[in-house]
Order: sequence, then C-alpha cells, then structure tokens
Amino acid sequence: MAEQTTLWLSHHLAQKIREHGVETYPHECCGALLGRDTENAKLEPSRDVCSLFPLINRRDDSPRNRFSVTSEDVMAAEKAAREQGLDVVGWYHSHPDHPARPSEFDREHAWPWYSYIIVSVHKGVPEDMTSWRLNDDRAEFSSEGIEIRHHASL
Ligand SMILES: [Zn+2]
Repeated sequence: MAEQTTLWLSHHLAQKIREHGVETYPHECCGALLGRDTENAKLEPSRDVCSLFPLINRRDDSPRNRFSVTSEDVMAAEKAAREQGLDVVGWYHSHPDHPARPSEFDREHAWPWYSYIIVSVHKGVPEDMTSWRLNDDRAEFSSEGIEIRHHASL
C-alpha cells in the first residue's frame, strides 16, 4: 500500500493557485508544481512546493471540466524547474463547480509519483484544496496531506 505523503506549500502559493482558479473560472486552470522531495530516514517523506508554473488550458473542446498538459508544457515546466534548481513534483488544476476530488478523466491522464492539487471553485469563489497521488497500479488516487506554511521564507 502507498505510504501517506505530505505536501508542503506556502500560504502565498496556495493563494496563487486559488487566484488562478478564480481567474479562469468557469474554465479549469492548470499549472505545474515546482519543488523538491525531502528524504530523511527519521521523518515521513515530505515534498516541498517552492514555486508554480501556470499553464494555459489548450483544450477548446471542453475547457470547463478538463485540461490537457501537452508534452511542450511538460518540457517548459521542467526547464523552468531546472533553472530554479528544482524538479516538477506535480500539477495543479481547478474544478469549477465540482468537488475537489479527482475525476475519472483525471485518473486516466495522471502519472504515478506526481502530486495533483485540485482546488474547487464554486460560483467563482475558491473552496476546498486537496492533493492526490496516483497509486502505482494506476487504479486509484491516494489522498495526500497538505501542510500550509504561514511564514514567508521557505
Ligand atoms: Zn480534474
């Protein structure tokens, strides 16, 4: 079974994800999470998000309830991460007028290892924010804890 993981995020970045979801409402927003994994034998594994790389939702068939991350997006996000000495550790997107739970579409288009943040935006107002990781067998997501840091420096 997958171990419980924790994603660390500053208050500022959490706010930026919510704002991006409000900006693109009623369409989905999406972007990359840039950060690093902390491996410490004494502690449970944790993952720090240090910056964001917002993407443009290129789907014109159904922008309200799905987004596509293209291979160009992945390359651009990885380049931005490298320039900051970070890795792409996950992706975020919004669910306009839907709960912050992964859809079947999300599962089919997700990769294991990455963290997937979902923020629900109800009538233009951001609500729940959750994080998920796809299990190695790709059958379902496991919920991941989000810890918000309130101090400014990471
Ligand atoms: Zn989704």
